[in-house]
Amino acid sequence: MPVTDTAADALTRQDPEIAGIILAETRRQSAGLQLIAAENFASPAVLEALGSPLVNKYAEGYPGARHHGGCEVVDMAERVAVERARALFGAEHANVQPHSGSAAVLAAYAALLAPGDRVLAMGLREGGHLTHGSPANFSGRWFEFTGYGVRADTGLIDYDRVRELALDRRPRAIVCGSIAYPRHPDYARFREIADEVDALLIVDAAHPIGLVAGGAAPSPVPYADVVCATTHKVLRGPRGGMLLCGGRLGDRVDRAVFPFTQGGAQMHTVAAKAVAFGEAATPAFAAYVRQVVANARALAAGLAEQGLAVATGGTDTHLVVVDVTGLGLDGVRARGRLAAAGIVLDVCGLGHGASRGLRLGTAAVTTQGMREPEMARVAALTGAALRGDGDVARLREAVAELALAFPPYPALA
Ligand SMILES: *Cc1c(COP(=O)(O)O)cnc(C)c1O
Repeated sequence: MPVTDTAADALTRQDPEIAGIILAETRRQSAGLQLIAAENFASPAVLEALGSPLVNKYAEGYPGARHHGGCEVVDMAERVAVERARALFGAEHANVQPHSGSAAVLAAYAALLAPGDRVLAMGLREGGHLTHGSPANFSGRWFEFTGYGVRADTGLIDYDRVRELALDRRPRAIVCGSIAYPRHPDYARFREIADEVDALLIVDAAHPIGLVAGGAAPSPVPYADVVCATTHKVLRGPRGGMLLCGGRLGDRVDRAVFPFTQGGAQMHTVAAKAVAFGEAATPAFAAYVRQVVANARALAAGLAEQGLAVATGGTDTHLVVVDVTGLGLDGVRARGRLAAAGIVLDVCGLGHGASRGLRLGTAAVTTQGMREPEMARVAALTGAALRGDGDVARLREAVAELALAFPPYPALA
């Protein structure tokens, strides 16, 4: 993304091959419907911070205690980022250095657990993240995970089962968090269960943290020992992670990030996180996340009208999960049909049985300025693409026409 004319010119002149690819990707993002629930459009100010000379600075350690010289200026950026994060989430301690959401989870485990410890987390089929015990991930290799799930009748977390498993397994920690849960978790209930078995509570709020920032979802901060999060999903900042905790655990969490799991902080990203936290503290962002949820509800209602079964019967968040078996499709084929029409989204588990559904999110389209009437149109286009109604090229044109009416970066349109 060329953030300034000079940067764009330099890249185009020096490396037209990569400049062309960036332009093509910018066009792809603008000409389709971006419904991947983990994606958003970072603001031009965030992109500018990311493309700044702060990328050049080595800064191992923390402000005032670095292993490199010349950190006095970037220290200011990290202090601002930490202060803004603490104020935004009402947290005693914030670490803004994790390079990603997964890196934040790794550091949280490193801070609180020892290899071989038992951990209770949402099962992977039910919506647990790879870092919640997948055998392909460090988490599944180094800890003994047990998965809990959702109730078959309601699609909601089965808290009685969580408690039963906790009493049976006596885990060192319970992880609350999911990649596909369209409702607010009951953090107080998780805390109660954790306390009953003397376990720590880790909340992986990678998805809802942006809603929390804007006041559209309850905060896990008062309940969790450590909150892990991403900064690039609904929160709309740069790609990266973050940790929030009480002051008592601050040192352990910091040492788990650096030097235990990471080297030098990425100061351009830290500065961009500060910019995003600044944006998230504004009334405009609160209005944005309210609209994100209103749009998700409108989208869920529209998809139900198209004959799709909506998991949990709707949503309280930015994401909607639908079962497409009623249309004679599985998730992967459904995603393929939609991709051909320029509608981009993910396949996800449905929490019961082996079938897979679709996960749609409204964070990106809401940043573009779409509202409820557009969500009705998105649902109709999605239904038509899934049923294979009419010509795909025509459908793709209709999708592009809708998307292009809401350019994510008007200055570049
Ligand atoms: C997105 C996500 C992550 C990982 O974030 P990355 O930045 O992709 O590493 C971790 N946990 C949950 C619940 C997520 O949704």
